[in-house]
Formats: sequence, structure tokens, C-alpha cells
Amino acid sequence: MEQVNILIIGAGVIGLAIARELSEEFVDVVLVEKEETFGRHTSSRNSEVLHSGIYYPEGSLKAQLCVNGIQEIYKFAKENNVPFKNCGKLIVANNKEELFILEELKINGEKNSVIGLEIINESECKKIESQIKAKYALKVPSTGIIDSHSLMQKLESEAENNGAFIVYEMEVISIDASDEGYFANFANGDVFEAKTIINCAGLFSDKIADMVGINIERENLKLHWCKGEYYKSSKIKDINHLIYPVPDPNGVFLGIHLTINLQGEVRFGPNAYYVDELNYEMDEAYKSQFLKAIKKYINIDEENLQLDDCGIRAKLQKEGGEFRDFYIKEESEKGFPNFINCIGIESPGLTCCLTIAKEVRKLI
Ligand SMILES: Cc1cc2nc3c(=O)[nH]c(=O)nc-3n(C[C@H](O)[C@H](O)[C@H](O)COP(=O)(O)OP(=O)(O)OC[C@H]3O[C@@H](n4cnc5c(N)ncnc54)[C@H](O)[C@@H]3O)c2cc1C
Repeated sequence: MEQVNILIIGAGVIGLAIARELSEEFVDVVLVEKEETFGRHTSSRNSEVLHSGIYYPEGSLKAQLCVNGIQEIYKFAKENNVPFKNCGKLIVANNKEELFILEELKINGEKNSVIGLEIINESECKKIESQIKAKYALKVPSTGIIDSHSLMQKLESEAENNGAFIVYEMEVISIDASDEGYFANFANGDVFEAKTIINCAGLFSDKIADMVGINIERENLKLHWCKGEYYKSSKIKDINHLIYPVPDPNGVFLGIHLTINLQGEVRFGPNAYYVDELNYEMDEAYKSQFLKAIKKYINIDEENLQLDDCGIRAKLQKEGGEFRDFYIKEESEKGFPNFINCIGIESPGLTCCLTIAKEVRKLI
């Protein structure tokens, strides 16, 4: 049996950022991951957008951690040669009702301390994005994109340089509380005794909480999986900003948007629909939904849209349910001291990885 000080479960971008942060201060930090390498799930299946923080309710963890997180991540990327681009984004509106939503978003963003927000008209929009159809647009200059694989690679190497151990192909299958802490039992028969456990298991973080004995139904911590698919188009070129429609009124997702990657290639998505199984297969069932949404802001023909990829969101918000914030908590109150849960780390989790890590450090 291994004895460790801090055991982190899950090597997505959140677990890696936490391993880096904690290994600066603590010894015997071990990160375990069930897959053969980092980021095989949500952290490599997303839009790679660094969000500004305009969407989230004032005072929410999502707002606070995002507004600070984007600045931290730009700084980290610059200092560590992680490719990124502060390209900015336009949220487009094509009628008065949508303009009203833009105005509300601008007010919300300003409450959250997002700077530089500006509503521009059709001709100003045409000057900066000639292919985009928009009567109005909310300009969000702080938004950007990042190479998420390079980011995770850097977080992994920094954590290891600080002395953290990262062990792949180690699946936690059960957890027992002990007087000194916790026993984590692995699928290969290994057992680790840990004083502190940090649960960053993404889509499975509710299952890990359940393993230690937290009643996830009663505590309202059950995750709802929500799939998002992407299409790509090599036909559309020379776009400079990310282009978003006004967000979904139910707050489930931000609308099928156009992103560019660091090579300038164009992708559309993700859409959003709740699913019961972890299945990354895709078909073209939603192609007409994509075309309808995209054509509102850019002209495109069906043959120029190809299926690309998909991801699954770990949402605390159930279908038809209210906004839910990130759940980042030390669980002494529930009878599990030194057990820290990170549950419901959906978007903007990538943007917030460094500030979530700082938040967790405060809980130790
Ligand atoms: C479609 C989509 C688009 C998104 N777009 C953006 C965006 O543009 N910007 C943004 O900021 N955020 C975005 N997000 C959110 C962002 O991707 C996530 O918040 C972030 O990646 C979550 O990281 P994570 O480490 O919590 O989860 P994950 O990356 O899923 O990592 C969890 C890890 O835990 C491991 N694990 C699970 N169970 C066990 C176990 N029992 N034992 C050991 N290991 C285990 C898994 O294998 C996995 O590697 C998007 C998400 C989706 C789905």
C-alpha cells in the first residue's frame, strides 16, 4: 500500500492545474488518471476559447474565476510559450429583440468587471468582419483561443518538475474513509492511503463523491451529461474574431458559434443535447440544425460543412433546470474532512483552470 499526502483524481486540465499549484507548496502530491495519458475526455473536446466572463451571474464562482482566470492564463501562456491568441469575439444580433439581449449581456459583463465591451452597428461590424451578417454586435476584446494540448502538457511538466507524481492507467474504483484520511482502491488492485483527496474526475466526479459516501441525489450533486458536436468548414477563410449568436435563453449553452483555431481554420458548434451514455460517436442527425443556426450570421452551403468532433459537458444543471455554479468544496460539513470535490466543471472550466487550482489551494 502506498501512502500519499494529497491524491488528485483525474488528469484533465483541472487535475493538472491543481497538481501544479499544490506541488509548489506540498510534498507527496500524486495525480492518478484512468486513461493512458492526460486530457482524453472533456479537456481535449472543447472550443479552446478563453472566455471573458460576460455570461455568468454577478458574484458566481463562474464569473469570478473566469474574469481572473483569463488574465492568469494569458500570463501563463506568454511565460511558458503555450500558443494562444487574444483574437476577441463578436456576439451578433439581427433584430431589436436580440439587440436587447446584447445590451443586457453588456451590463452583466460590466458588473462582472469585463472591460472593453462595446456595441457596434452593421457598418462597423462589416469593417472588421466583412463576411458576417449582423445588424449589431457586442465586441468582447478580451476573449481568445489557446492550444489546450500544449497547455496541459506544460501543466503536467511543471507539476512533475515541482515533484508531483502522475500515474496513468490507474482507475479509482472505490474509496473508504479511515481515521487518518482515505483509502483509494484501484482497478489493478493497488491501494493508496491519502490524507487529502481532490476529486477532479470530470464527467465521473459525482460517482467519485458517491464512492466516499456522499449522497449525490440528496445533495443535488448528480451530473447530467450534455453532448455538443462540431462541424468544420475549409471553405470559409479569413475570419479574425470568434463569432457567437446571442446565447440560448435557457442558459444550457452559448449557441452554435464560429471559432477559429490558431491556424485560422474554422469550426462551428457545439450544439447541446442531454445524453445518458458516454459515446463520442457522431452522425449527421443535427446537420440541418447547424445550417439553420450558422446561416443567420454567415452564408454557407451544406456541402461545405463536415462533421468534426464532439465533447460532453459535465453539467449540474439538469434539462430544463436553473443555472448551476461550479461546485468546489471541502466536505467536512458532510463528514468527510480533507475531501475536496470539484463537480460540474463545465464551461468556462478551461479558462478557469488556474484560478480553480488557487481556489482549491485555499481549501487545504
Ligand atoms: C463541447 C464543450 C465545449 C467547451 N468549450 C469550452 C471553452 O471554449 N472554453 C472553456 O473555458 N471551457 C470549455 N468547456 C469546458 C471545459 O472543457 C471543461 O470545463 C474542462 O475541460 C473540464 O476539465 P476536467 O479536468 O474537469 O475534466 P476532464 O477533462 O473530463 O478530466 C477528468 C479526468 O478524470 C478522469 N477520471 C474519471 N474517473 C476516474 C477514475 N475513477 N479514476 C481515475 N481517473 C478518472 C477521466 O479519465 C478524465 O481524464 C467546454 C466543454 C465542452 C464539453
